[in-house]
Amino acid sequence: MLRVISPGTIAVAALATVSSLAAQQPPGTNLEVLQLRPNFYMIAGVGANVAFQVGVDGVVVVDSGSASSADAVVAAIKKVTPQPIRYVIDTSADPDHVGGNAKVAKAGQTLFTGSGGAGIAANFLGGGASILAAEEVLARMSGPSGQPSPFPLEAWPTETFNLPRKYMYLNGEGIEIFHQPAAHTDGDAMVFFRRSDVVVAGEVFDTRAFPVIDIAKGGSIQGEIAALQKLVDTAIPSVPIVSREEGTLIVPGHGRICDQLDVVDYRDMVTIIRDRVRDLMKQGLTLEQIQAASPARGYTRRYGSDTGSWTTNNFVEAIYRSMNKKPQ
Ligand SMILES: [Zn+2]
Repeated sequence: MLRVISPGTIAVAALATVSSLAAQQPPGTNLEVLQLRPNFYMIAGVGANVAFQVGVDGVVVVDSGSASSADAVVAAIKKVTPQPIRYVIDTSADPDHVGGNAKVAKAGQTLFTGSGGAGIAANFLGGGASILAAEEVLARMSGPSGQPSPFPLEAWPTETFNLPRKYMYLNGEGIEIFHQPAAHTDGDAMVFFRRSDVVVAGEVFDTRAFPVIDIAKGGSIQGEIAALQKLVDTAIPSVPIVSREEGTLIVPGHGRICDQLDVVDYRDMVTIIRDRVRDLMKQGLTLEQIQAASPARGYTRRYGSDTGSWTTNNFVEAIYRSMNKKPQ
């Protein structure tokens, strides 16, 4: 099923359709395309949320979804526009965000002819769309030298950056990419489309669950809260005329479309739980004792889980380990 929803119905439609996406269905078979702005779309139901901007320069895609949904993502974009895909921007190296990289990029066409920025022919991988990410994402996707790479070469970023702020100007609008060096991982990026007024948040913001903080990959609770604060500072809510329900839209890594106040609530929730863990640590409690004291109480019904790959106890442990780490 593929539905395109017009901007007039977005406020209601985004809530209704995105939250009703059942996880049981095979990826790509129940994807939905939401038109958030005249030239800006989101695809749900393909792993992570995928966002794309359309214009005279072509299509800029943020995250490519899971590998099994890649064909469906390409088809959904092609249904909206005949313009070539020019860029895929990755918000992390997670498989549900970069799994479609190779196919989505291959379906596109690089903006560059001749040699690329580093003197490498921009079309050396066949002239597909460029894949842009923080340099940590390339390191993660290519893996340590001498070992098999977790992702095929065609899926790797073709262009990386190591600045806090990377920018481009395409399709008549500024695109800012904010690197978050220690939030979910060390390679997170949030992408702000300034004219469309949409921020694509990536894995740092998940409306269904506590944020995944992957300590082994450079994540930390401090960096997570900083990333959420950056989202709050970038977005503008519908004030002073609240009833208009306008304002900056935020596309989370997973879950429904949000506004600034939703991120404020989420940041406050994460901060409160961090503070509770810190207070219990100050009392000299062990990790097990802290987990038993339920520092996430009040939020577990909405965000928590006792099973799966990211439980409430995993989240509390990640906070504990972050706080135990000496600042670098
Ligand atoms: Zn994800």
